[in-house]
Amino acid sequence: MDKNTRICIIGGGPAGLSAGMYLEKKGYFNYSILERQDRVGGKCWSPHYNGRRYEMGAIMGVPSYYAVHDVEEFCGITHDGPKLNRNYKDASGKVIEPFARTLGNIIKNPWLLKMKGQLKKFGELLETKYKGYDLNGHRGVAEGRYDGYAVTPGRERVEGVNPNLKDLAMPFKDFCEMNGVPLVQKIWIGPFTSFGYGYFDEIPAAYVLKYLDYQTCMNFVKVNLWTWKDGTQYIWEQLNDHLKHPARLNSTITKVERHDGKVFVTVNGQVEEYDKVIVTAPLYIPNKRDDGQKGMVEYFDAREDEKTLFSKIDYERYDVQAFLTKPENHPEISYYVFDNMVPKALGHLMVYYRRWRDEVDQVITTYALRKHKNMPEIPYDKCRKMVQDDLEIMGNPAEKVINEWSVYYFPHVFTEDYAAGWYDKVEAMQGKYDTYYAGEVMSFGDMDETAEYSRELVERFF
Ligand SMILES: Cc1cc2nc3c(=O)[nH]c(=O)nc-3n(C[C@H](O)[C@H](O)[C@H](O)COP(=O)(O)OP(=O)(O)OC[C@H]3O[C@@H](n4cnc5c(N)ncnc54)[C@H](O)[C@@H]3O)c2cc1C
Repeated sequence: MDKNTRICIIGGGPAGLSAGMYLEKKGYFNYSILERQDRVGGKCWSPHYNGRRYEMGAIMGVPSYYAVHDVEEFCGITHDGPKLNRNYKDASGKVIEPFARTLGNIIKNPWLLKMKGQLKKFGELLETKYKGYDLNGHRGVAEGRYDGYAVTPGRERVEGVNPNLKDLAMPFKDFCEMNGVPLVQKIWIGPFTSFGYGYFDEIPAAYVLKYLDYQTCMNFVKVNLWTWKDGTQYIWEQLNDHLKHPARLNSTITKVERHDGKVFVTVNGQVEEYDKVIVTAPLYIPNKRDDGQKGMVEYFDAREDEKTLFSKIDYERYDVQAFLTKPENHPEISYYVFDNMVPKALGHLMVYYRRWRDEVDQVITTYALRKHKNMPEIPYDKCRKMVQDDLEIMGNPAEKVINEWSVYYFPHVFTEDYAAGWYDKVEAMQGKYDTYYAGEVMSFGDMDETAEYSRELVERFF
């Protein structure tokens, strides 16, 4: 492609900003990033409280976050945040050690004895039967192929045929049961469901395992995690500062029309002309949202294939609240509540996070899911009350909510559409209308998968 191609990037979150960085690395400088909000970072949102930053969105990374590492290198920053740690409580607020192999625990939970064996078996299955499972993106999976770049610092190009990969379309619960390793769900659930990515009986195994490949999951188990002192938003603020063309904030796009090999974007009332557009903002939102976010099909001259495919996307209703507590009620550490990570506990507090362990005059953030595909959605206010009541049960009552949001979180498709080749159909549309689709839905809803997808998109098409 001509290096002077005029490229419009919609969205100034990790996907959009890293698209800018990787374009620059390849010699494309004629791009604009349009961001609707008055800040960059998207779901990496780290507001200030009492001299420090807390996390309303993304919190952590793992050592295999190679794309995030590219950004750190580009900007000369590093992961310098507080060390993470956590304990566990049951739904009644009692502190528990669910994985301790003590006699009492084993008598209560005999499955503990079988878990280690299943974990080992699972690791072997992923390496052999499911070879190629962990590549970024979903190209070829539904057809029993893998096609992408290895999850290594060098990201070597790999492709191959593996019909077993079709199993990844199944809900993770069924996938584990079919492979005789149901107990591994007890490990994977912590960094999956409580992080808002849905329940194992509804979410295709592909999403679970591309994010939590075996190594990444073990990094969570061993708490071998990265954080940033000034929050994850700082990574993207830094990147924005280092780009030749920082994102244009407060950009309201009302129309995008594609014809005659050009893309006409109406932004803040003015029409701008481009050659290509990369959409990292939501492609489709099935309901009306209070924050005014819309899917691209609503403001683009969307074609029938775009409308049909994108209408299959759903997202998680994941609520985050930042609470203040009295010093005596401040938890001494973050807590996970496994009992509340199952569909029957929908709307309850699954995890609460204490970021700064050296100071009690800081906020605590809470996390709850309020939608399962087969259950009625719990209204926002009701869920907020349930979470507040749960904090009381946990022995850490909180008086005041100082920040909250209900996030457009983890867009994905379900098993039937995944198995029917949704991803290969969308991948086949890349570039068709001078439009490229990136951002969370194309890979997975975490910082690194989205940034890595942007890297690959630039590598493949520019
Ligand atoms: C509570 C929470 C916890 C998380 N924890 C982690 C974690 O620990 N580790 C991790 O790696 N990830 C985590 N994530 C996920 C991570 O933040 C996201 O996956 C990542 O930010 C996605 O990047 P993105 O650029 O695809 O989308 P987003 O971050 O959503 O960015 C999209 C951007 O597009 C903008 N936009 C939307 N519509 C338009 C429009 N019409 N015009 C212009 N701009 C538009 C938005 O304002 C936004 O800035 C978490 C997220 C949340 C909410």
